Amino acid sequence: MTNLFITKGENLGEFSLEEGDKGFNTVLNEHPEVKTLFGRRDYYPETLTINGVNPLLHVMIEGIIENQLQSQSGVQDIYSKLQNEQNLTPHAARACIANVFLHHFSEVLIEHQPFDQETFVRRLSLIGTDVSKLNRNDRCPCGSGAKFKRCCSSYAESFIVSPLAGRMDLGHESYIFNTPVNIEDPLDPIFQLEARYQIAKYMESHQDLDGAVKVLKENIAQAETHQGGKYSENAWQDYIFFCQNHEQLDQEFLYASDHLISLTNDDEQKGNVICDKADFLAKKGDIETAETEYTNLFVSMPDYYFYRYRYALMLSVNDRDDDAIKVLTDLITIKEIDERTHREAFALLEILGVDTSALPNNL
Ligand SMILES: [Zn+2]
Ligand SMILES: [Zn+2]
Repeated sequence: MTNLFITKGENLGEFSLEEGDKGFNTVLNEHPEVKTLFGRRDYYPETLTINGVNPLLHVMIEGIIENQLQSQSGVQDIYSKLQNEQNLTPHAARACIANVFLHHFSEVLIEHQPFDQETFVRRLSLIGTDVSKLNRNDRCPCGSGAKFKRCCSSYAESFIVSPLAGRMDLGHESYIFNTPVNIEDPLDPIFQLEARYQIAKYMESHQDLDGAVKVLKENIAQAETHQGGKYSENAWQDYIFFCQNHEQLDQEFLYASDHLISLTNDDEQKGNVICDKADFLAKKGDIETAETEYTNLFVSMPDYYFYRYRYALMLSVNDRDDDAIKVLTDLITIKEIDERTHREAFALLEILGVDTSALPNNL
């Protein structure tokens, strides 16, 4: 997509982008993940980009097309055709039109020309057409009568139809890791969850903690209803990591940790959260409660030796090296110990200044 930077409140010539704009609001309702960001936009720099994408501009541009659909029959025809012939969802069809618009509009801006609706609609008729093999001196297939090289030759990429056009793609980190497979809808909740995670990070980096808390809680609410709560634990974990980094959210951290501990059926996950919580308590000076958390964990999950290593780590961080060494030397004598725990325990012993060559090494 053409990189066009538009600052907040900037007027796009004849295209209205006001808060009460009909098209804008329609699209904002389709992209609820952006609502809180939009409401708090005054906290952020003029040019708001997240991993190279301006989410508000995304909504604005789609909103312009939405307005065109209400008033321009030529655009409406293309929109219907894309849905019927290319099997696109309404959102994707509109976004494919938006891609051409963005390119067309940036040319208009650069060349200081008025926006020519007829040329625009002619170009839209080429969406889905492969123009990459055309001869530059051919007549342009859009029907303008001009040579291709002087008309639509730079639009080849904008004419490519994508079923996921119009998704809010702000990064791949918490819910989406690669190009998503088997998802056909650009408004699939998984995209919204990932986008909110990225938006929360952006808010955090601009010291808007209230905004980030709000957005992460929106994710929790959505995750709990989507696909039987499949992503619920993920959403809680994101929130816990966030709270952990901000002292004013200490109580929230403890509350959210307890909630996740009660929520998860995955023993290892549960144990990890309990360790995190105990380490957090120790860091806050409450070593006694931290130790109780660990002791209870060893009773309820005796076979997870890694938690004993984490206990030793917590002790050493809190200036109790002798106790840590005792825990570790006991740990490495356990026959059933897993390789990872064994390796980490040895490494920590060495860091603590213990000569490990004399110790039993049963692996
Ligand atoms: Zn053309
Ligand atoms: Zn969109």
